Amino acid sequence: MQHEKIPKVIIIGAGPGGLALYHALIKNKDKKEFDVKIFERDSSPKERWQGYHIALNYLGTRSLLNCVPSSITSILQKAILNPIPNVEFHGASLIDNKGTLLLHPPSKQFKDFNELVKVPDELSVMITYRDRLRDVLLEGVPVTWGKKCIRYEETKDGVCVMFDDGSQDFCDILVGADGINSPVRKQRLPELQIFDFGITNVVANVAAPKHLMDRFIKLQGNSLFQKSLGLHGDSSTLIFRLIPIEQEPGYENKSNSNEPHYRVTLNYSYPTKLDDVESDKIKVDDNDSASVIEHVKQMIRNFGSGCEFDDIVLEFWDLVPKSTPNDPEKFQFKTYNPTRRRQYQDINPSSIQPWTSSRVTLLGDAVHAMNPVLGLGTNNAFQDADLLSQALINYSSEDPISCIQEYEKEMRKRSTVDVLKSRSTAFQLSTPVGPIGAFIRNCSFKVTNFIMKFLSIFRK
Ligand SMILES: Cc1cc2nc3c(=O)[nH]c(=O)nc-3n(C[C@H](O)[C@H](O)[C@H](O)COP(=O)(O)OP(=O)(O)OC[C@H]3O[C@@H](n4cnc5c(N)ncnc54)[C@H](O)[C@@H]3O)c2cc1C
Repeated sequence: MQHEKIPKVIIIGAGPGGLALYHALIKNKDKKEFDVKIFERDSSPKERWQGYHIALNYLGTRSLLNCVPSSITSILQKAILNPIPNVEFHGASLIDNKGTLLLHPPSKQFKDFNELVKVPDELSVMITYRDRLRDVLLEGVPVTWGKKCIRYEETKDGVCVMFDDGSQDFCDILVGADGINSPVRKQRLPELQIFDFGITNVVANVAAPKHLMDRFIKLQGNSLFQKSLGLHGDSSTLIFRLIPIEQEPGYENKSNSNEPHYRVTLNYSYPTKLDDVESDKIKVDDNDSASVIEHVKQMIRNFGSGCEFDDIVLEFWDLVPKSTPNDPEKFQFKTYNPTRRRQYQDINPSSIQPWTSSRVTLLGDAVHAMNPVLGLGTNNAFQDADLLSQALINYSSEDPISCIQEYEKEMRKRSTVDVLKSRSTAFQLSTPVGPIGAFIRNCSFKVTNFIMKFLSIFRK
């Protein structure tokens, strides 16, 4: 009897989406076996800083748990650290330009990620460590580093994948999990374009000392995701955990201080056209972090209300490293990432007609990047990986395409909702309002807050 050849899947990109898919295909081996290869353009796992925090909701977490084997589930806690009861509130607070609370959705609190997945409530999220999540997902995955995919050629028998070092590899199914600038998408769906919001975003990671965190929490409460809305379409966001960095495994204290420090992600966004007004005051060079940080601080001073919230946010921005440390690996809090202006962008897979499926498919940001306002990108990438791995169980060499078609139909429908939800929220929060507009906006958030609280009584 002749055995059927084991089909080969190539994944381009070792981000959260590509890694989750790798694990899921190996985990499902007893149902359908694939020879899986994963290629990454970065030369090593440490080449690029992976970021401090992301918020995971029950959908993303559930899919992640479906994808990974028990060996990974048992170490996931390194990235998705348990909430500290009564100290941390895993949820969001929206405040106005003077620091007054507008919206504080009554999200349910969980003792760990296993509990999170059991309650279907999209408002409930856990703030997780993005860099650690990447490290955990890399465990046991034989990524081929330093391999940049540049293009592919698809025939009826398979796909030939080409890399920038001149090498090539052949597979039955190619998955582009290669992020927003995906070369696989550009070739597969050239008409699917990136949408630019006209909103600039600056993100930085800092290690904040306890005395500053205490001041902030005393003023604004312990929601781990806090956003303040200005009058000019500007907004400041802080995302943090209240677990001292010094307690993190592998931490080496090289500072002279014994004061605990906490991970904080800072985010400042504003309508890009405000740069035209500001540009003659400060010369901003995105290759010079110091100038970008100074620019953000200048904007907070110009457009903020001068309240205590602004003062504290400025102190956080003062902590951002202004230049590249000599050795980022040994950098005291491992927080360094060049600070630069980026544009809010997204990709709406429903902005083009449904495409005919083929042996080449896409997942995660490559096909449906979303702006970070609602924190849904990774959650969707995990759901894609879960869905695609389930669909591939039905793969057969006689009909390799139907399973891809099944995946793409569902993925397109689900992710479009989140892309458009994130887009409309970003526009809503970035619209300049003026004093009367701010009054109306703030009242409408306060009414929403009241209704949410009222409804939550019946959900308990
Ligand atoms: C500031 C910010 C905050 C965010 N916050 C959240 C949040 O709270 N919650 C959430 O769910 N999401 C959040 N996101 C979104 C999230 O980071 C992305 O949605 C997620 O990383 C997408 O995963 P991915 O695997 O699809 O793509 P990526 O993470 O972009 O990974 C793609 C990988 O492919 C590699 N690659 C690219 N091109 C090639 C090539 N040619 N050849 C080989 N390899 C290649 C890249 O190096 C990278 O490793 C945030 C994003 C930003 C920018």
